[in-house]
This record gives sequence, structure tokens and C-alpha cells, in this order.
Amino acid sequence: MAKSIKYRAPRGTHDRLPDEMSLWYHLEGVVREQMRLYNYSEIATPTFEGTELFSRSIGEETEIVEKQMYTFFDKAGRSLTLRPEGTPPVVRSYIEHSLGRRQPLQKFFYIGPMYRQEAPQAGRLRQFHQFGAEAIGAIDPAMDVEMISLLLSICRRLGLKAIALHLGSVGCPRCRPLHREKLLAFLGGSYSLLCPDCQKRYHRNPLRILDCKRERCRELTEDAPSVIDFLCEDCALHFEGVKHHLQQLEIAYTLDRRLVRGLDYYTRTAFEVISANLGAQNAIGGGGRYDELIKELGGDPTPAVGFAAGMERILLAMEKEGCQIAQPPTIGVYVAPVGDRARAFALSLLKDLRQAGISCDGDYLKRSLKAQMRMADRMGASYTVILGEEEMDRNRVLVRGMRESKQEEVGLDRLVGYLIEKLGVRRQGQTV
Ligand code: AMP
Repeated sequence: MAKSIKYRAPRGTHDRLPDEMSLWYHLEGVVREQMRLYNYSEIATPTFEGTELFSRSIGEETEIVEKQMYTFFDKAGRSLTLRPEGTPPVVRSYIEHSLGRRQPLQKFFYIGPMYRQEAPQAGRLRQFHQFGAEAIGAIDPAMDVEMISLLLSICRRLGLKAIALHLGSVGCPRCRPLHREKLLAFLGGSYSLLCPDCQKRYHRNPLRILDCKRERCRELTEDAPSVIDFLCEDCALHFEGVKHHLQQLEIAYTLDRRLVRGLDYYTRTAFEVISANLGAQNAIGGGGRYDELIKELGGDPTPAVGFAAGMERILLAMEKEGCQIAQPPTIGVYVAPVGDRARAFALSLLKDLRQAGISCDGDYLKRSLKAQMRMADRMGASYTVILGEEEMDRNRVLVRGMRESKQEEVGLDRLVGYLIEKLGVRRQGQTV
């Protein structure tokens, strides 16, 4: 009987087991390849930051800051928070290292874990992974469209087809007051029906009510006035520019009048990529413009736009759509010794093969030859080197081509060279 399990991964977290890794390598590989094509450079920031960075940028009235942050005090009494998302740390780093002085437009991407204390469900975790991109320095709507096009081309390269782009605009501090007034007037009559959080938001940040996840609040705001109808001239022009460039690139979109996204720092463009196959948690990724954030965090006023996408969700969507993925990794050679002398020799042979750039493995459990052959098969070895007592006496070994099911006797002195040739390890450093 299995012993009862004493330790489990914390709620809402997930072990990425070796079996899943080829999927992750594939996903990360496609992300890096597309980021390279679009000329975005990788940046890596710490997984925790001072709490204020997040509360200040994401906004006090948001679900993330109100309810979901993993905040703790270190021994010196500093309040720190595990990053719930990637944009504020990138902006902090951009300001801290004066990256804007190097080039007027900087394009970054990141891949890494994020932390939010949400109620776990399918597609919603407490530690999840995002990749994201940020372009800091350009106000041109063409920049917003490059960002959207980048996210969509990653999805397409992964084989996702059942996805849709939702587009909206959240305006800027100049056009929001009028919308706020209209929204308050619209919601006034139903104030007492709003949830306690939204009643607070009503006074402090009413736009956030449109982002409330509660059914009741969603119903009450169904026909609420959209910021889109109150855009100032510059924001309206920018929005037209984005739509025009999307058309130019033949990128289809759905206009989403109540797309506000869960973060306060967005201005103007907001977008989301939705999968048709994911049920309630259907957003694969989203982003938008944040022209005020860099100034807000102490930098020079600099326009910017970015997105973040959830990697676990993308993998779920790929599974649902039956997307083809790369094969799991295999090894070049399995070394199967029989007897003690052969086992000692196997250790040196494995070292020589690895030095020659050939991935290989051997037996450390003193298994029978039959069991070792099964192991070689399971590891997907291209060749198995059988070190039998009798052959070893003659300084020879048997090399079995696992695909062809053919074997050949090879002299020990030319064994490594023979395998290099068979496996086509041409350049030094190239691994098979
Ligand atoms: P956000 O930063 O909230 O715009 O999230 C961007 C993307 O990250 C979403 O579209 C999801 O794909 C993913 N995501 C956000 N929160 C979670 C979560 N708790 N678990 C898994 N994925 C998430």
C-alpha cells in the first residue's frame, strides 16, 4: 500500500515534471525565436520587489493589490512582494539603470514565474508563468500594433487557431473625468446593489467596477457608458491609428467597449487575446499602453506599450486544439555493460562520449542485458554499445543501431570515432 503523502506542493502551484519539459522548451523556444524576429531583448528582474512598486503602479483599488499579492516583511522590516506581474519591475529597472539614455526606444521581453493569491481553478494558479514584452519610448500607434502582432504570431507559431483579438481604449487622464461623471450617474441608482468592494471603488476609482468579477456587478454594468465614447481628440486619433494599422496588417479584431483590464496604469489602447477553448479563464494574454507609468514611478515622462501572456493557459489551449509539439529529447548512445570489468570500462566510455559531444547514459543498477536493452529503447537511444565479457577480451564491442535493429562489432580503439561518424557529430560542441 502506498504510504500517505506527507508533503504536497502548495495550493495553486504545480510541479513541472520532466515529462512536461519538452513542451515548455518548445513554448519558450518559440517565444525566444519570435522575440528575436521582432528584435526584443531579454531582461530578467528579481521575483520580489518592494511592495510599493506594485501598489503604486497596478493601483490600490485593483483585485491584484487588494486581494492577491503575496506580501511579507523581511527581517529588517521591509515590505516585499512576490511579483504579481512583470511590467512594474521592468519599468523600475529601466528607470534605475537609465536605459532610456542608451536608445530612445527600448524593446524588452521576459519569461518567468508570477504570483497571485487567487482561488485556484482550471487555468488559474497561484504561481504561474508569463512571457511578456515591453516597448518603451514610442507613442506611435504602429508600436501598439507591432505588440499585438507579436503576441498573435507567437500564438500562431504554436499552432493556436481558435483565438480572437479583443480591442478597446481606456483613454487618458484628460478624457477620463467626463467618463467618470457619466459612469457615476449611471451607477448611482444601483449603488446599494453593488458589492462592498465596488461600493468602495464607486468613490475612489469607479472605472474598476467594470472589471469586477462578481456576476451581480457585471449585470449591473452591462450597459454602462464606455470610455470609448468619451475619448479626447488625441486618444481618439490614436485609437483610429491602431485600428487603421490593424487593418493594414489584416489583423481581425472585436471592438470591446468594456475592456478595462485589471491594472490601473493602462492608458489608451487595451487588448486581450481570448481562446475559444478555455472556459471561464479564457484570456491567453493581454496588454496595452501605459504612457503615464514611467513618470509615475519617478522617470522622465515616456510613452510605452506592452503585453503579458500566461504560459500554462497557452499550453492548455494547445492541448485542447491538439497542436503538434516537439518530440521529447532522446539520447545518442546507451552503454550496456555485462560484468564488473565492463562496468568499470563503461564509466570511462561514457565520459569520452560526453567529451565528444554525444549525449549518453548507462546502467548503474547492475541490470540484466535484457533489462538494459529495454531501458535503451525507452530512452530513445540511437545506438546501444554492448560491452560483453567475450568481446571485451578481444578489445571489441557490439554496437547496435536501435532504429535499424542491426549490430556490428567495432574495435575499442575506434569506437568513439565510429559513433561520432554514425551520429553525424560534425562540429566540436555540437551535441547529439
Ligand atoms: P494579466 O497580467 O492579468 O493581464 O494576465 C495576463 C495573462 O496571464 C492572462 O491572460 C493569463 O493568461 C495569465 N494569468 C493571469 N493570472 C493567472 C493565474 N492566476 N493563473 C494562470 N495564468 C494567469
